[in-house]
Amino acid sequence: MRPGLPEIKDIFGPGGQLSREIAEYEIRPQQTEFANQVLEVLRDGGTLLIEAATGVGKSLGYLVPSVAVSLSRQSPVIISTNTKNLQEQLINNDVPIASRIFGGEFTAAVLKGRGNYLCLRKWRQLLEGDGNKRVEAFVRGVSSSLPSFPCGDLAEMGASRDFSLWERVASDPTTCLSSACAHAGDCYWRKARRKASQADIVIVNHSLLFSDVGCERTLLPEHDTIILDEAHNVERVATEHFGVEVTGARVKREMERLVSAGGVFQSVRKKLGRRLPKLRRLAISSKIQEIERTLEELSGISERAFSRLSELMQAMGVCNSVRFGDERLSLPGAFQEMAFACSRVEERLSGLLANVRENAELIKDTEEIVTEITGGSERWKSLTSNLVFLWEASRPEFVYWVELRHGDDLALKACPVWVREEMREHLFSQLRALVLTSATMAVAGSLDHFMFRMGLEGDYQPRRAVIDSPFDHTRQVTVMVPCDFVDPRHEQFSASTSELLIRLLEAAPHKALVLFTAHDMLGQVYAAIAGPLREKGFSVFGQGLDGARSEIMESFKSSRRAVLLGTASFWEGIDLPGEALEMVIVVRLPFPVPDEPLVMARSESLMAEGKDPFKEYFLPEAVIKLRQGFGRLIRRRTDRGAVIILDPRIARSSYGSVFVKSLPTAIEPCAASELPEKVSAWFRNVNVATETAAAKTPLKKTGKRG
Ligand code: SF4
Repeated sequence: MRPGLPEIKDIFGPGGQLSREIAEYEIRPQQTEFANQVLEVLRDGGTLLIEAATGVGKSLGYLVPSVAVSLSRQSPVIISTNTKNLQEQLINNDVPIASRIFGGEFTAAVLKGRGNYLCLRKWRQLLEGDGNKRVEAFVRGVSSSLPSFPCGDLAEMGASRDFSLWERVASDPTTCLSSACAHAGDCYWRKARRKASQADIVIVNHSLLFSDVGCERTLLPEHDTIILDEAHNVERVATEHFGVEVTGARVKREMERLVSAGGVFQSVRKKLGRRLPKLRRLAISSKIQEIERTLEELSGISERAFSRLSELMQAMGVCNSVRFGDERLSLPGAFQEMAFACSRVEERLSGLLANVRENAELIKDTEEIVTEITGGSERWKSLTSNLVFLWEASRPEFVYWVELRHGDDLALKACPVWVREEMREHLFSQLRALVLTSATMAVAGSLDHFMFRMGLEGDYQPRRAVIDSPFDHTRQVTVMVPCDFVDPRHEQFSASTSELLIRLLEAAPHKALVLFTAHDMLGQVYAAIAGPLREKGFSVFGQGLDGARSEIMESFKSSRRAVLLGTASFWEGIDLPGEALEMVIVVRLPFPVPDEPLVMARSESLMAEGKDPFKEYFLPEAVIKLRQGFGRLIRRRTDRGAVIILDPRIARSSYGSVFVKSLPTAIEPCAASELPEKVSAWFRNVNVATETAAAKTPLKKTGKRG
């Protein structure tokens, strides 16, 4: 019998199951309201956009209704997040709590992107191949951590980040033997999918969700109900997914997959065996040699194409990205040659495949070889079509650009300017019930901008709600703005910021996160403040200057007095409660960079529609990002701290009020010269208030002493 749906108040409300089951459970009316709204949509169908601030308890708030509806309808609910941290929180914290409520009657599974799982067949091939030092080091790393990761998750294993080797052992649809594989029974990917196919709740990330869309919805179990958490990231992931990219490194990796030690050709040569008559063996070998020659030619063409492009960018003074396909930059003709060469590789791989098939009965492990060559051929076909698409640059609804990556690698990229149509057609229209939630979707309390960006307009009439924070922001946080500070567009801004930061941290030596919008400025400020602050006993960490993000985060957490300077990825996804983070300093209002290709194209598109790009795009984007940065500070009811916005435009400009209305507490304007002392005084007062409150609280009885 299908279970009926529970009353939300009986679970989340006073005296409800959660407070009976969990001693420290905190009743929050906001969580009950959130869960009620989610339950209604999951039960009745439709779309719900619901913003819920940090502290509402969103994840449990949607998990409980999801389990109830999944069990009642006997159909899985997919929960998609942007970050691994949230997936881990769901499976390790929220699912066990929900299990206690539902008496362990449901199952939940996490499914990651296929490339995360180790392919045992390819792994065995790599072990059997003639390795070099690089391969041996990789094999040692994976072998030593494999026993601790029974899910075969390469990312979890901390295996060497040698991406080209990783790709060679990762599960991949183009080289999978499926049920014919000798390892099918133990295959990590197949096991993970089987588990997901039997689960009531399937936890995935946005990227896998869009891969499922691209694979005609064959990756995930059949479903019609989705919760999208961290929904403010969905558009970005969709844009990447519906886009195209070719990098010099990717071309090299594809070549390596064919010709390197343990690669496809070595494996084919080994398996030709004695049963194959000499002439036929020679015919196959000569086909391989022919492809190797084409690859050598391609290597030269690719090098020429990318270095010519790099020269052009240098001549134009471009140091990060530039659009092409218009009057600004034409791709060098070598890219067209490159596309031809890639198609020749593909054709020749098909010729080799035909030859291997003709001799199938005489070759060892033919099926394995056929799969490897077919997979290679499919990847070269996709590389060719991507290069042709980029070379032609003819779709007006796309933006095309070149981007400089780490290590001087160049990426040719294209993506749709907007993904509203794509998301509507491929995702939203396929669902019975959809919930989009995040702590930061609204601008000045309105979800209109988010709806526009997601294409939830016209026929779509989603329900909307904004749930307030359970925190007392007026008491827990101060937001100060030095109104007379230098304008961020002034050349003095960087030097003045450095000087003010040193004074501020000396006066209020609390752990601080300084958020930048550009690496250049971060570098300048870091160079100016690191020495003086270190002399005063601070640890100073700079993104991209003191190690990888995770290393910096660990060092910052374990330091007593520390300041962390970060850009893009540090504006969200950081959860440092209590004294681990007490100040967030926003250096300038985080407007999108106007000359970034996608930003520029969106701006032009809005102008063409007669809209104001500043009002419709730049301002709402910056507001949402500022709210994300703000959200790093207050993570718990007991947290307190200061947000300092150094960009005086928030107080001085006509649009500043939109930012102010979007923050959970009022800003306090002050003079830059007074700022350090004001912040310090605020912390002193807050500490006194906390101590007084603690002194007034009677001690809890702790039972008899021994
Ligand atoms: S079934 Fe496919 S993914 Fe799994 S081990 Fe075999 S080839 Fe690899």
